[in-house]
Amino acid sequence: MAVSFLNLVLRLCLLRGNMRTAAAFFAMVLLTAPAPAALRNLERMTVSGSDYVRLAEWAESAGCAMKWNKKDREIDVSGPSARLNFSVDSRRAEISGVSVWLCLPVINRSGVPWISLTDVGSTIEPVISPHKSQARVQTVCLDPGHGGVDTGEAQGRNYEKKYTLLLARETAGLLLEHGFQVVMTRTNEGAVELSERPQLAARRGADVFVSLHYNAADPSVHGVEVFCVAPPGVNSSDAGGGKAIHPAETGNAQDNRNVLLAYHVLKSIAHSLPLEDLGLKRSRFEVLRLARMPAILIEGGFLSNPAEAKTIYDPAFRKRMAHAIVDGIVAYKEAVAPP
Ligand SMILES: [Zn+2]
Repeated sequence: MAVSFLNLVLRLCLLRGNMRTAAAFFAMVLLTAPAPAALRNLERMTVSGSDYVRLAEWAESAGCAMKWNKKDREIDVSGPSARLNFSVDSRRAEISGVSVWLCLPVINRSGVPWISLTDVGSTIEPVISPHKSQARVQTVCLDPGHGGVDTGEAQGRNYEKKYTLLLARETAGLLLEHGFQVVMTRTNEGAVELSERPQLAARRGADVFVSLHYNAADPSVHGVEVFCVAPPGVNSSDAGGGKAIHPAETGNAQDNRNVLLAYHVLKSIAHSLPLEDLGLKRSRFEVLRLARMPAILIEGGFLSNPAEAKTIYDPAFRKRMAHAIVDGIVAYKEAVAPP
């Protein structure tokens, strides 16, 4: 799209005094920006309305090599910056040992694996070859989930809202020690509206937004998962992924950074704590949809699993979790910093 056309549209929006229209237009342009040259040159196949490319061809274009690990079932892609693992007909993948849920499954056609362009562009490349920028990563907004009458998950009188606040306080202290500035969406037991949380982060100049939660499910389920907002046009991970009609949200303007931040924080937690890695997932949680800065939501374990609940109640384990979160934010900051 010609720059002069962008200028024209921006001027028209500004002339009409409509900054919101201008911002929305540029968010749309960013979201529909053409694929990099290497991707554009790859042959495509359309499967159920989604564009796919040959995994081997994409790997080569990214300076990596592909090989079958188990014929027609598991695939390895390795290169200087990452080691990737994929399974046929599955959305579950690994990037350097960290579980990542793809938006669409990898498919096998006559012994040739194909991957969706959506995942190449919005899941894999932003993580293995992040775009560098001068944008600062200095102020972290911590968002302790729930509060007030919204207790979150509960096991007896052990409420999620209490443990998310304790984790936020622990994490805030460590972030300050590492030279970050910290904003908290709540510092006490009180309630805060979901929509108010990302707004507060924006007002206070936060560069990243980290929402803290604990999970509940069947007692046998345990582990950690880190969410970022689902890209436009695909379902959330827990809804099964796949193509769907979902327009772009405010948070989608940061898609490449969202997935990179989620990856580094999950990697840090999964590598340093004895918690099962349930993976990087996409969702449309309100705080992630509305965030104007890179944003993630950590589900740091299951209150409903008796063994994991003990770790959530344990101050020493909480301190380790806070360390892992901070180390993940530091890794993200280093990943985006210019050389
Ligand atoms: Zn929660």
